[in-house]
Amino acid sequence: MAPNINSEELIGYWGRPTSTVDWCEKNYEFSIYVAEMSNTISNLMMILPPLWGIREIIKYKLDKIFILCQILLLTVGLGSTAFHMTLLYEMQLFDELPMVWGTCVSVYILKNLSSEEPKQIRNNGQNTLRKLVLASTLFFFAVSFTTIYLWWPQPFFQHTSFAVLLFVSFYLQYKITRNSQCSLCQKFLKFTIFFFVFGFSLWIIDKAACSQLTSLRARIPVYFNPVTQLHSWWHIFAGYASYLQILLCIHSWYDLEISSSKKTLRFENGFSLRPTVSKKRR
Ligand SMILES: [Zn+2]
Ligand SMILES: [Zn+2]
Repeated sequence: MAPNINSEELIGYWGRPTSTVDWCEKNYEFSIYVAEMSNTISNLMMILPPLWGIREIIKYKLDKIFILCQILLLTVGLGSTAFHMTLLYEMQLFDELPMVWGTCVSVYILKNLSSEEPKQIRNNGQNTLRKLVLASTLFFFAVSFTTIYLWWPQPFFQHTSFAVLLFVSFYLQYKITRNSQCSLCQKFLKFTIFFFVFGFSLWIIDKAACSQLTSLRARIPVYFNPVTQLHSWWHIFAGYASYLQILLCIHSWYDLEISSSKKTLRFENGFSLRPTVSKKRR
């Protein structure tokens, strides 16, 4: 697939870009080893929070399933880093495929959490069958997407598939927060949607107003350059929104499974869910 770049672009260590998309950030401007510096570094927002999250889950003995959620977010962060660093088609797939596979896994977890019945009822045979059907459907979706996308590598197709899964996950999160009536989970959902929508608007502006942004960058001091990289801001907002989604899953799991206990999970420092013992029952 011919890369969408102009002939004046610098060619760095990774050679000519082979990815089907190239972003507004000028290639190899600051280092021959990093194609897009800001778009690469900003992925730390999808790497450091999940690493912190894994540490917290282990430390506070929260359910191990959420380590998988953090690993999926971490994989997207590493894939996106590799993609923006090299602009190679293989690395683009390493970014884009985990986005779809990871969101399928989140939809699976959210769908199970959105069940209103208590734990005992949810673990009966009928539910095992329902879980199996759900897992097979999502697996079929992910495999079909991967097959079609490898054969027809249109970014529009990947963006649409991801957006559909994201909307499904928002709907399920809405159902979960409505069932649990947990004000913290409702807050997580509001911020998740706001950050995704706001970040996505910046993503769109970065594409649509690239020439204006490029001429702006030529007129301002070079250290302001990262602030004007709107795709990097998308990474930051989407990264944090994804992390909040995981916190919502953990908290609602806790709301559902241990609602009779006196323990609560308190939200601290914007990244942690710490168990505390409170006098008042939820
Ligand atoms: Zn990106
Ligand atoms: Zn909650």
